[in-house]
Amino acid sequence: MATYKQPCIHCGEMVERDAHFCPACYSRSPFGYHCPNCLKPMKRGNAVCPGCGRPGVTNCPYCDRLTFAGNENCDSCGMPLLISCENKRCQEPQFFENQRCTACGKPVKKAAKQIEALRKRGR
Ligand SMILES: [Zn+2]
Ligand SMILES: [Zn+2]
Ligand SMILES: [Zn+2]
Ligand SMILES: [Zn+2]
Repeated sequence: MATYKQPCIHCGEMVERDAHFCPACYSRSPFGYHCPNCLKPMKRGNAVCPGCGRPGVTNCPYCDRLTFAGNENCDSCGMPLLISCENKRCQEPQFFENQRCTACGKPVKKAAKQIEALRKRGR
């Protein structure tokens, strides 16, 4: 059976349809954007997530401009909006505003601290 591939929306690389991330640009949403909180599909321009109701845009912690929450990097400055889960056995990338890790379900309390550290490194 031939594997069905589809181009990554971020870099154009042909990615297997059941892949969970793009092997070329490491995006975790190669075929479309999804809500960083409930992981339901979300489109640019959605005022709120259709699944959990979180806002569709958020202020970037780096440049303070509004950026689409389904993106992994800020629309304006390109800085990563993901931090890693503080649970050592998990460490899955999480959206910086997530209260709980979408992978292990544990609270992500140090998000603000991680962002602060990244900010200092970047400037
Ligand atoms: Zn890609
Ligand atoms: Zn959601
Ligand atoms: Zn930014
Ligand atoms: Zn986790």
